[in-house]
Amino acid sequence: MKKHIHLILFLMLMCVVCLIGLQLFWNYQNYNHTVKTFDHDINEALRSAADREIDDRQLKIVNKFEGWLADTSLITITADHNNRDSNTVFHTKDRHPLYPADKGITFGLEDFPLKLNHITPAAKQYLIKHFADRILRRDLQKGIVYNYTQLLGDSLNKIYNASKTNVSLLKKLTKQELAMRGINASFILNPGKNSRLYLTRPVNTHFKRPFKNTWFYAGFQSPQQYFFKQMKWVITTSLLLIGITVTCFAYTAKTLLSQHKLALLKDDFINNMTHELNTPLSSIKITAESLKSFNHTPQIQAEYLDIITYQADKLSSLTEQILNASRMEKQAGDNRALIDLNELIDKAINDMQPQIAKYKAQINYQPLPIAVSVNIEAISMLNAFTNVLDNAIKYATYASRVNISLTANAGYAEITFTDNGIGIPDEYHHKVFEKFFRVPQGNVHTVKGFGLGLSYVSQVIKQHRGAISIAANRPNGSIVTIKLPLN
Ligand code: ADP
Repeated sequence: MKKHIHLILFLMLMCVVCLIGLQLFWNYQNYNHTVKTFDHDINEALRSAADREIDDRQLKIVNKFEGWLADTSLITITADHNNRDSNTVFHTKDRHPLYPADKGITFGLEDFPLKLNHITPAAKQYLIKHFADRILRRDLQKGIVYNYTQLLGDSLNKIYNASKTNVSLLKKLTKQELAMRGINASFILNPGKNSRLYLTRPVNTHFKRPFKNTWFYAGFQSPQQYFFKQMKWVITTSLLLIGITVTCFAYTAKTLLSQHKLALLKDDFINNMTHELNTPLSSIKITAESLKSFNHTPQIQAEYLDIITYQADKLSSLTEQILNASRMEKQAGDNRALIDLNELIDKAINDMQPQIAKYKAQINYQPLPIAVSVNIEAISMLNAFTNVLDNAIKYATYASRVNISLTANAGYAEITFTDNGIGIPDEYHHKVFEKFFRVPQGNVHTVKGFGLGLSYVSQVIKQHRGAISIAANRPNGSIVTIKLPLN
């Protein structure tokens, strides 16, 4: 049976360990994944935001460029098809060229289908769009500015060189990019290399990259912090689950072990009780048979009847003891009254006279000169005192000496029973209050009992909101201390 319980406990323990291991492993994997993804996503977000910010500035230049081309006071656009291939060619030049020899630029558009002798509004519009969106845009993306005409080149260079990173736009776009990646974490742009923040790789936001640099990087809280913030509910739930699992396991293990212990104690109790009941019963049986079979003298008959009465008394005292213990569980300590403990202890000693005489015990008790009145249930408290006294007398190695003392202070009455008996090993000082428990003494218990007395006593004391404890009386014996509240 014990083997089975240990096997079950071992298997349960393995399950719990595996469950906890799996949970921790899963959380660890999750942590690694989140940290890696976080690092990748914040770098990507900043890079995309920088591209979009540059794009935005280039778009503004392109719009301005379109305005200059459309402005006839600045630029003249003409068209004809007097060339070898007879395709339309466009001539773009400054209205007021800086150098008279400056003829501007002439070019054809591959996908322009019409053959024009002069420029039309639609063709001009087409040319402007094409020039700005295809030619200029592509050049800007390469980080180059051409002098298409002197005026266009100078103006472009001016705004191109003056263009600076729009930091607030970059920040806004980074936020958007982060949100698109499901990251809702605050950050600071260029927080300083020594900051304790987690830094992204720097991105270049200069127009003329890679030729010129304007570096931007973002500082975030650490990925670890981010993980814990993101996963706080998952982590809390999984810790809670681990806690519940461990508690359940501990509770089940405790219940199993205590059930097993109870089963053993009950076996002990039944053996013990059978033995205790059998001895007087067989004695009664033998004596009664002898009375029936032989013609004894009246004197012997009387002696035999005395034996039967004695053994019957013993039987009823045993059953009384067992009944008392089970009755106590239901009793709630009714019929309480103010009782002087001096008197109650006296009465207990008096009730124990037969036992005292049998063991030739010596009881020392000096009643207090003042009454120590406590609100108690007299009968159960008297039973408790006689039980403790009975133990102090019977668990003796030789003529037992029991000192009883009563003191009252700090709101408590304290009664101590000090004996010089066989004593109780320290490790059993608490266990003796458990039902059926008897201090192990090999297979033979020289003193008979059921292990119910002290559990009864401790219940009575608990019902009176008191406390009971056992200590060793060195070199021999035990000290049982009972504390009862005075009101
Ligand atoms: P029992 O009927 O066995 O005496 P108790 O509950 O009164 O049951 O006591 C439990 C056990 O505690 C006893 O079996 C005994 O081993 C030990 N015990 C109790 N009181 C004393 C004492 N004064 N001296 C030594 N052992 C004691």
